[in-house]
Amino acid sequence: MDFIKQNHRNESGIVYVLSKRDCDAVAQELEAQGVSAQLYHARKGKKEKNEAYDSWMQSRTHVIVATVAFGMGINKQDVRFVIHKELAMSIEGYVQESGRVGRDGKKATCLLLYSFDDYQTVVKMIHRSRDKSEEALKAEMNSARAMLGYASGLRYCRHTTLATWFGEDDLLPCAHNCDTCMRKPRAPHDTDVTQMTRAIIRAVRSAQLKGVNITALQLPSLLRGSTAVKLMAKGIQDVQEYGSLKGNPFWSMERLQKLIIFLIVQEVLELFVIVKNDLAVCYVQHGRVSDTVAERCLRIVWPEK
Ligand SMILES: [Zn+2]
Repeated sequence: MDFIKQNHRNESGIVYVLSKRDCDAVAQELEAQGVSAQLYHARKGKKEKNEAYDSWMQSRTHVIVATVAFGMGINKQDVRFVIHKELAMSIEGYVQESGRVGRDGKKATCLLLYSFDDYQTVVKMIHRSRDKSEEALKAEMNSARAMLGYASGLRYCRHTTLATWFGEDDLLPCAHNCDTCMRKPRAPHDTDVTQMTRAIIRAVRSAQLKGVNITALQLPSLLRGSTAVKLMAKGIQDVQEYGSLKGNPFWSMERLQKLIIFLIVQEVLELFVIVKNDLAVCYVQHGRVSDTVAERCLRIVWPEK
């Protein structure tokens, strides 16, 4: 909200959100803060959608709050900002959506906000449709994972990262146009986390064998020997590596959570979805390369910063 008010007051922009419910809430909040906003999502009628679109195209409304349903064929030249309030569904989608800024060649901003929870929401959305082929599911998961890697990566230029994903590898870093290039240069900090990764794989496999479903955010608690009632009731105390990091000052909850996100991006771990009483929950399991790491054929180096 402040970002729009301070940097783009009375300018055209798009705010992308994942859910229709969020669409309403954000548009209302913007209006309450004195920023003219319209919303656009699949559940709106055709007439309402057209009105919102026309009003924004003619700059009578400054901000359009939309789900991915919005965007096909937009060619508005003076879009000054695109905000993703959450992680985009896919890296291809992100490029398309953020590519709608600054078509007039003037300065414009893309802002991506993300939390790991968004990634879990995206994974659940991908798994929602039952008639999806195995291949389609895999392709969508790969693209969502790439998006998680893009959002959580701290070291490489955003422009070259996207270019690499789309097959161009001869681009130089942008130097001063993205957050990683603008941040003060810091000494790169690589940590060899191969041993820790193997311990995590042992824990995840053991949990799977014992039928204990754990979420990616419960995994650090398991390793640090949490005695939380909810987790003990699941039986985490019977899982291998339970408490192996108890009191370990280096592997704090926060650092472990970051490492687990990195391991998901690297396909050492993977999320899967269980739906119970209409409620979908993401749990963690071993990923495509976990065997290779566990069999000591692959080292894992974590570019922590
Ligand atoms: Zn850059």
